[in-house]
Amino acid sequence: MKILVANIGSTSLKYRLYSMNEDGAELLCSGGYERVEDYASTIESCLQALQESGHLKNLEELSAVGFKTVLGKDLSGCVFADDAVIAALEGFKEVAPAHNIPYANGIKQFRSALPNTPLVALFETAFYQFAPEASRSYAIPEEWQAIGIRRYGFHGASHKFIAERSAQLLGREDVSKVAQSLYQKGPQPPEGADLRVISCHLGGSSSVTGIRNGVAIGTSMGFSPQSGLPQNNRVGDLDSAAIPYAMKKLGLSLEEVEKQLTKQSGLLGVSGVSNDVRDIGQAAKQGNKRAQLALDVLAHSIRHWIGAFYLELGGCDALVFTAGIGENDTALREAVCSNLDGLGFELDLEANASLRGKEGDIASKGSKTRVLVIPANEELVVARECYRLLQSGAKD
Ligand code: ADP
Repeated sequence: MKILVANIGSTSLKYRLYSMNEDGAELLCSGGYERVEDYASTIESCLQALQESGHLKNLEELSAVGFKTVLGKDLSGCVFADDAVIAALEGFKEVAPAHNIPYANGIKQFRSALPNTPLVALFETAFYQFAPEASRSYAIPEEWQAIGIRRYGFHGASHKFIAERSAQLLGREDVSKVAQSLYQKGPQPPEGADLRVISCHLGGSSSVTGIRNGVAIGTSMGFSPQSGLPQNNRVGDLDSAAIPYAMKKLGLSLEEVEKQLTKQSGLLGVSGVSNDVRDIGQAAKQGNKRAQLALDVLAHSIRHWIGAFYLELGGCDALVFTAGIGENDTALREAVCSNLDGLGFELDLEANASLRGKEGDIASKGSKTRVLVIPANEELVVARECYRLLQSGAKD
């Protein structure tokens, strides 16, 4: 069965084509388009290219197209991308504007291009559906809760991949089987603390998630993807009282506040240099104090969340770094892991300094907790969940 995973940005389309069966997935090819202006013709070109390269004999050979949708109003899980999915994405367009509108439009375009092919949405929030109620609730009035304000969590596909891959690397029980039905209706995951993973997805946007036996118990991101850790240019967590105060003192409108917190904050706002840790690191080396502070704020925030999940999980078997920053920024990994020997995290400094963009264990031999670097592979999780949804439909 061939499944295409489409990653839709506001001006980009990236894709991976997988061949799936009971034993797993094989990546057949991947590619992408940047600076997309006309989505319909880009989708046509993509489907054409897959046929011309021989990866697809014809369009009928495509069993499904999967999408990593972000946030749905009153909808999560892994579901067929029908009108309800589009309505759910549009229903929360203000909360995740950079993601929801491109996905709603992209799904509509794929639907016209492939009217007979199942389209499947895996929501980034799905991984958190079994997290305890207390970790998903804000202390707000009931009316606010009733309009859907709560901690949803994002990067679900990435953290799920980390949960499954770290279990394999540690030679533990296959948590993908344990949590097989996580995104669909099915038995609840088992109780117990057999495998405790803290996953740090650090990239253009970042989050830390605590995972027990393949199931998320909590995460740093909240109601929207601009919460939790400081993001590249988005604020991360902020005391809600700061907003009315800044509006009054600086004479800002709500639109200006939104713009400043979503485009001019985060690492860019603190450093005043760039939204990219590579530029910020360079500036810090040359003595730029704001740049150094931005890196320190990021490391401090990551440690804050690691600490929270260490406590909730009652320890940690593997601390994992993934995504652009997590896979490559050796200095940040060292800063995050410093002085944690007492808690059982001990980095092998040489192994850390030499591991970039590849999988590996960077903990010292004697470290109680393994510290792993695992390249992100969100598309694989989308493909697997699509496959499961199609298989479960076939069984019904
Ligand atoms: P996104 O989160 O946007 O999908 P990535 O996970 O690829 O993207 O993360 C992108 C970020 O990773 C960049 O903004 C950059 O800060 C960081 N990054 C990429 N390569 C390196 C590197 N070699 N060293 C440090 N940071 C890097």
